[in-house]
Amino acid sequence: MSIKENLQQIKPTIPEHVTLVAVSKTKPNKAILEAYQAGQRVFGENKVQEITQKNESLPKDIEWHMIGHLQSNKVKYIASFVHLIHGIDSLKLLKEVNKRAKQNNRIINCLLQIHIAEEDTKFGFDEKEVKELLESENFKNLQNVKIVGLMGMATYTDDENQISKEFKSLKNLFDQLKTLNTFNFQLSTLSMGMSGDYQIAIKEGSTMVRVGSAIFGERNYL
Ligand SMILES: *Cc1c(COP(=O)(O)O)cnc(C)c1O
Repeated sequence: MSIKENLQQIKPTIPEHVTLVAVSKTKPNKAILEAYQAGQRVFGENKVQEITQKNESLPKDIEWHMIGHLQSNKVKYIASFVHLIHGIDSLKLLKEVNKRAKQNNRIINCLLQIHIAEEDTKFGFDEKEVKELLESENFKNLQNVKIVGLMGMATYTDDENQISKEFKSLKNLFDQLKTLNTFNFQLSTLSMGMSGDYQIAIKEGSTMVRVGSAIFGERNYL
């Protein structure tokens, strides 16, 4: 099936209040333009060099989301254009985003990545660490970032109960933290769900799904 047909099949399964991020990592501009022509405007990438090159060569009304692990020393390359950073996993990274946002006269929207999977290879804060972050003076002084939500990835497994359970725990934390409201912390976005589990994620309260291979086909990594 074509990218356009994939999108036409997926979109009706996603409710209006859920944003579809088309994850275009490793895919050429041609593939992105095909999705663009089918009306898609929000794209997600996980490599700084790739997102930067694509931003320069593709239509300016695309919203670029940085979805992968981000190294502090590379924030400067994306700070002028990135729409949302999904993978904030340390105060150090958040401070760097704040610094570069300030240099660009921007406030950059960010999601805190929360560790919900069983595998310990995934990045992210646990519940206690998030609460510590929010209470730290360091965080309260950041003027050029805004935490607008949480992001998480479930364990890579066929066990749907396991996946549901992990998404539920993230939704729970989201609902708890939503009651806090400060100038740089106002939660509205819960980014959870990928090609294999976005239906479960939506059922468990996701407001943003990151779908790659179901739209663009399998990726070939070199
Ligand atoms: C690659 C990636 C996705 C999309 O994965 P698919 O299984 O292809 O939908 C979603 N989120 C993150 C963080 C990713 O790195």
